[in-house]
Order: sequence, then C-alpha cells, then structure tokens
Amino acid sequence: MEDTSNKMNLTALITSKCTLKCKLCATYAPIHPSPCHYPYEQITRGVERFFNSIDHVRLFTISGGEPLLHPQLPEMVDFFAAYINQIELFEIITNGTVVPGERLLQSLRFSDKVDIMVDDYGPELSTKVPQIVDAFKKYGIKHRVRKYYGEDAHYGGWLDISDFSDKQRTEKENEELFARCMYTTTFKNHIFIINGTAHMCYINKQLLDFVSDDPSEYVDLMDDTLSATDIKAQLISLRNRRRLSVCSYCNGFCVDAERYTPAEQL
Ligand code: SF4
Repeated sequence: MEDTSNKMNLTALITSKCTLKCKLCATYAPIHPSPCHYPYEQITRGVERFFNSIDHVRLFTISGGEPLLHPQLPEMVDFFAAYINQIELFEIITNGTVVPGERLLQSLRFSDKVDIMVDDYGPELSTKVPQIVDAFKKYGIKHRVRKYYGEDAHYGGWLDISDFSDKQRTEKENEELFARCMYTTTFKNHIFIINGTAHMCYINKQLLDFVSDDPSEYVDLMDDTLSATDIKAQLISLRNRRRLSVCSYCNGFCVDAERYTPAEQL
C-alpha cells in the first residue's frame, strides 16, 4: 500500500448552508437533507486529530456551503493557526455573496500562507465581489477571484454528477470509473473532513442515506479509541481504495465529461 501521508491535502467542510442554490453544486448544499452549520467542537476536534496524525499538507481548504456564513469561523481560524507550520497554503473558498466582518479579517492576518479564493458567478449572483476584494486589500490578505461566467469561465464549466440512480455496472466497470474520477486523479491525495468524519469523496452516507455504512470508507475522527497512528493508517488505507460503494450510483467526476453553465440556480 502506498504511504501517501506526506503528500496529503485537506478540506474541511464547515457548513452545508449556502446563500446560493446552485443546481450542480459540487458539495450538494441545495439537496442536503438537513442543512446546518457543523458544530465548532466537531470541526476543530476533527482537524486537530488529523494534524496530530499527518505531519504536513500542501493545502488546507475551508469550504462549505458558504463558509463565511458560519458564525464561529473567526474562532476556527484562530484554532487552525496553531497548525500553520504543518500547512503550505491555507485557503478559504467563498462565493462572493458575503462580506467578511472585522473579526474574521483580523484573524486572517495571522500568516502570509492565507489565500482566499473568491468565486465570482457574475454580478447577479456574486453580488458582493467588489466589497469583498476591497476588504481583503484593506487588511493585506492575499486573495484571488475565480471567474465562473462569460466566455473565459474558469475550467470551461461545471460537471453534472447529480444522478444517483443505480447504474448497474459490474465491479470492474466501477473500478474503472473510480480510476478516472477526479477524486482519484486531480484530488489524488485529498481528504475531506465532513462533520467529524474523513472521506475521499463528497458523496457519502451523510448525503445519501441509501449508501451502505461501510466503516472502511471513512475515518471516524471522533472515535477516541483510535490513536494518532491508527488514524494515519486508516487515512492512508482510505486513499488506497479501488472504489467506494457509492460509485455504483454515480457517473463520476471525470475531466472529460460534458460541461454545464456554472451556478445555474434551482
Ligand atoms: S462516488 Fe462518484 S465522484 Fe465519488 S469517487 Fe466514486 S465515481 Fe468519483
């Protein structure tokens, strides 16, 4: 089994609430069965246990839903700052609809490794981009705007993996799909923490209740019986999987799939 622990990236989803209702949302916020802000204790404990197990990540991303909606984001940033020596780049992805408050802006000044990604879905949806950019400039916080509209839209559009019907594929076909999926290629060494558990794909039991509850398909970071060594071993094992049971219901997040207009609203 390949030890990928020195190459990992981490994303923590801190909320499933959002200000937009994108039809093809990659984190499925609009179809989430019970949208909520994940509890501060769960998020920070999960991240703490991850960094107690894994020495270093290239990228640590905070995402959602819309993460700037979480009322305890500033306190979380203060907590994550303790791990900055294990992180090359600390990123927050926001959708251009929420202007960061003074408290968050002050917290984000803790390191020049902070980089905010402002997704711009056009002036009718991402209505606050100019104010957000001004705020980050004023506080000297590094940021980028990722344009998702017009002819030069980032990445050529979004993918549609919203169909969760049983695709009736063979085991081999599911493994082939998994091998082509961006969660195996582009996000090869990525771990996603969602409400206290670590996953390698956003599509999981928390989203779809018919997915089987196979403990080998996630790591329960809230399980106090697991040591740091256990968690590290389970994360490595997770990233070495050949497929997930949910792949049977998925068309794959594949680079060569058809592209659709980003951020079309439901
Ligand atoms: S469920 Fe779909 S998106 Fe997730 S790893 Fe499997 S094929 Fe990829």
